[in-house]
Amino acid sequence: MIWYPYTQMKGMKSPYKITGAEGVYLYTGGKKLIDSVSSWWSAIHGYNHPEMNEAIISQVRKFSHVMLGGLTHEPVERLAEKLSVWLPGDLNHCFFSDSGSVAVEVALKMALQYFINIGESQRVMTLSLEHSYHGDTFRAMEAGDDEDYHFILKACGKNENIIHIPTEISDLEKAFSDYGEKLNCLIVEPLLQCAGGMRIYSIDFLKRARELCDEYGTLLVFDEVATGFGRTGNRFVADLVQPDILILGKALTGGYIGHAVTVANEKVFAGFYDGDPNHALMHGPTFMGNALACAAAMKSIEIFERDNYIAKIKRIEEIARENMRGFSARGVKEVRIIGGCVCIECEDSEVTRGFQDFAYDNGVFSRPFLKYIYTMPPYIISEEDLVSILRVMKQYFMDSEF
Ligand SMILES: *Cc1c(COP(=O)(O)O)cnc(C)c1O
Repeated sequence: MIWYPYTQMKGMKSPYKITGAEGVYLYTGGKKLIDSVSSWWSAIHGYNHPEMNEAIISQVRKFSHVMLGGLTHEPVERLAEKLSVWLPGDLNHCFFSDSGSVAVEVALKMALQYFINIGESQRVMTLSLEHSYHGDTFRAMEAGDDEDYHFILKACGKNENIIHIPTEISDLEKAFSDYGEKLNCLIVEPLLQCAGGMRIYSIDFLKRARELCDEYGTLLVFDEVATGFGRTGNRFVADLVQPDILILGKALTGGYIGHAVTVANEKVFAGFYDGDPNHALMHGPTFMGNALACAAAMKSIEIFERDNYIAKIKRIEEIARENMRGFSARGVKEVRIIGGCVCIECEDSEVTRGFQDFAYDNGVFSRPFLKYIYTMPPYIISEEDLVSILRVMKQYFMDSEF
């Protein structure tokens, strides 16, 4: 039987069985639901997209996968080439992997080894943010900071080499003056911390982070697994502040196949590129550079550019601001909106409990977590469907007594 994610299996509410999906709709048990979550924020083009389907079908007829050890192929070459040109600055060196968590591990390993390779092996520390989420593998959990997800880490004791700070410039400056010479990297979900509660913080923090990283010789790592491909209204936050290493995942393949990439700039790559075999990056996920995933990612990027998704996301943000304006109710602490993300922070997690059923009864699929009721819809959503989602989010508070 299936062991489901983030769930106590005993007494688990049975999941909705999906029999079809098309555009923004999920079909289940004779019902049609608007998907307000985009399958953990990845299905930016919606489901069953004819062009995405065709890209994968035409690749599957050639071959689905060959390993990247000693072999290469056109889909992975094209994607790496496209990302090198498309991503800002000199983020040119693409290391592929099969999930966001693994791509985070690769970035953290890269940052550590970069300094070992260039003879600064005292740089064993990582700076990270409070409320951050970087995935569920062990080092990613340690870089993350959310006890609600990762309380089991307590059993192992705290990793003294990972420091977490609030998203305040004064804390950032203090961390660098205390630990600057020992930090190999600062890793952040830039601008929007998603799984930690859709927390938005200032771009000034990131600008200052860039300055301090330059001053202290620390690498700046952006985990844009969630924020990449437009979710904050920017194509990438990396377009505003340039990191040394950029991590992409989730929407990379338009939600079709799990894949991720860790992209290093010229400086980082140069730290590995020499005659010493011990300076090589010793990592290689079996399915890295999967041909179907690369074909999907290429097509996804093509559609994203051609159909001006940034304008679509701006429109989602405008509609959301208009519809949520002045909204407050019992149980609501704050409403936060950025790009294609709308979040209602509730007073406590009790408040969110009944929302999934309420949404289902009103034709919307939602999966609130902790204290947060949110939507991150596919970017192709119509105004009417978006307004329906927002109406359901608001109506819940009108109809319930907290
Ligand atoms: C989802 C997520 C990850 C982990 O990605 P997986 O593909 O689930 O392993 C890492 N970082 C951020 C910011 C995420 O949102």
